[in-house]
Amino acid sequence: MNVAILAIGNEVLCGKIVDTNGAVISREIEGIGAQVVHREVVSDQVEAIVSGLRHAYEYADFVITIGGLGPTLDDLTREGVAQFFNEALVYDPKIYEGITGYFAHTGRETPENNKRQAYQFPTSFVLENPNGTAPGLRLDKGGKTVFLLPGPPNELLPMFEKEVLPVIKERLEVPMVTRSYKLCGIGESLAEEKILHLYETYPMLNIAPYCSISFVDYVVTAKQSDARMLDVFEAAFLDVLGEYWVGAARDELNVTVVEKLKELNMTIAVAESCTGGMLASSLIEVAGVSEVFLEGFITYSNEAKMARLGVKHDTLMRDGAVSEACAKEMAVQLQRLTDAHVTVSITGIAGPGGKTKEKPVGTVYIGIAIGAQVQVYACRFSGSRDRIRTRSKDHALHLLYKLLNKVTDI
Ligand code: ATP
Ligand code: MG
Repeated sequence: MNVAILAIGNEVLCGKIVDTNGAVISREIEGIGAQVVHREVVSDQVEAIVSGLRHAYEYADFVITIGGLGPTLDDLTREGVAQFFNEALVYDPKIYEGITGYFAHTGRETPENNKRQAYQFPTSFVLENPNGTAPGLRLDKGGKTVFLLPGPPNELLPMFEKEVLPVIKERLEVPMVTRSYKLCGIGESLAEEKILHLYETYPMLNIAPYCSISFVDYVVTAKQSDARMLDVFEAAFLDVLGEYWVGAARDELNVTVVEKLKELNMTIAVAESCTGGMLASSLIEVAGVSEVFLEGFITYSNEAKMARLGVKHDTLMRDGAVSEACAKEMAVQLQRLTDAHVTVSITGIAGPGGKTKEKPVGTVYIGIAIGAQVQVYACRFSGSRDRIRTRSKDHALHLLYKLLNKVTDI
């Protein structure tokens, strides 16, 4: 089953926006065992959209368009599709009712130009959009299907999961099954080296790694008839990579950690230096975190570490702010100050300046105190300031995840 993706928009074409939607949905499509055979970015012009659709249809059974469903004059996806299929666009009062309802919910009048979003094709299906005004559309033509999805990721992704992925899955000639694994604390090449033998042992499985700043995700796909091989593979995979395993590819580590804290009835507080609140923010992203999250300090300067947390002057003079001793004091003092069951501290050199001979850029200490037990991890991350800070935050979540899992074992 072949799929083509057409990202529509001048902003994507000129690089102001990266086609993250295309990347995410390609991955999901590959994950169910279908193939993405063509991806293209075209401008906000009817002719460009028509030409993109022509290419996409040449290769694929399913075409997914991204963006250009909004109310403004540069949103021309509907018009492009209408021209390509020679179909009329018809006004649908029911769609318009949904749009006015969306505005009414936030106490606003519906602007006149939003009427443009209430047009569909006589033979199309409307895909509900609970997160925005523009509904998506699905059009079946000559045994092939085009899905028109909105651009904003928070609108597109839920619609894709609910309305697109199941349809593609249903039409796969050979039913496929998948498993996925998210790894943290190991790079792509080392992970690959450790499981190289599995590629040979399990040729019937499609083993696909996907790398992001802090994680390596593996999506493993098999024909339904080979499904039991996934169990055998999983045992062998986790045997060598289990210590880095933090859930399924889709799982978000911050969500998993918050759930674990809730399960354990434990509260948390954090004190951050180089991550500047990223850890606190990532935990607070999770709805319902108020049950567990008490407070977060951003103690960037030495003075703040002393004044807010009570880190000793001596420690800072002797070992420096980026040190095991300082991370330990930050975590322990935070426990004293907040009464949280779990405290996490992060102090490091995100660069590009600030390095010393002993402490190069990327040196980061992460302290975690759980009850009377305090652990400090010395880490060395590579990359830009952004990447080092992101990796510090994610690694802190990873270490926390591992320690919290041990708490249940006790
Ligand atoms: P809107 O109603 O917001 O205008 P739309 O369906 O018309 O939605 P676009 O106008 O093409 O979509 O894009 C709106 C926003 O969605 C962009 O500013 C961008 O933030 C995001 N977006 C669009 N296309 C992509 C893409 N391919 N990948 C990631 N984000 C995208
Ligand atoms: Mg738009």
